[in-house]
Amino acid sequence: MIYILTGGPATGKGTRSDILANALEIPHISTGDMLRNVAKKNLEIREKLSNGELISDEIITDLLEQRILENDCKEGFVLDGYPRTLKQAELLDVLLAKYGRAVTKVMELTIPDELAFKRILGRSKCTHCGASYGIDFPPKRKGRCDICGGHLAVRTDDTAETLSKRIETYRENSKPILDYYRDKGILMTVDASAHPERVVEEAQMEI
Ligand code: ADP
Repeated sequence: MIYILTGGPATGKGTRSDILANALEIPHISTGDMLRNVAKKNLEIREKLSNGELISDEIITDLLEQRILENDCKEGFVLDGYPRTLKQAELLDVLLAKYGRAVTKVMELTIPDELAFKRILGRSKCTHCGASYGIDFPPKRKGRCDICGGHLAVRTDDTAETLSKRIETYRENSKPILDYYRDKGILMTVDASAHPERVVEEAQMEI
């Protein structure tokens, strides 16, 4: 059971990945989280992350290999944030083949652009405890955290202009990767506007 969840900004990859991983009792591997962890001990990766640069295909794939060899990945895993390039998709297949494994299904999450705008522009985070809020889970008191009463801030890159650019970049970059999986017959496109819990059924459906 090796699932890849992919999608543009605000499609809710993290939420759906968590639900699926919990239901199947396999780990949710977010390469972003994995890298932030490695960055604590590795200056080169720390610098790349803070400059917003992608980590090289070889380095990220090596890190991923170490992760999937851990015991909890024996039955499978849900991958989120990888592959980000066609090269990574190819390297992943080589890596999995080495262990007699293969990707089960790739789920592309899609939402209308208007919803991405609504979700991203309505997103805020507590500057004190880090709790997140959004259109589906607003704070009880405007601008204040429900948990600790801290001040809520919006991410500086969450603006309409940067979001249009991020959606555009996602479309350009993801096209070759999606084509690659479509050709293999393992790509499923999912409407991610609502019902994140449906991911469990969707994962088991025929393509
Ligand atoms: P975001 O959703 O903002 O892109 P992520 O948590 O997915 O955040 O990733 C954070 C950073 O980690 C990325 O900006 C990139 O530098 C690095 N990263 C994550 N996944 C990959 C990957 N598959 N290949 C290369 N770099 C990656």
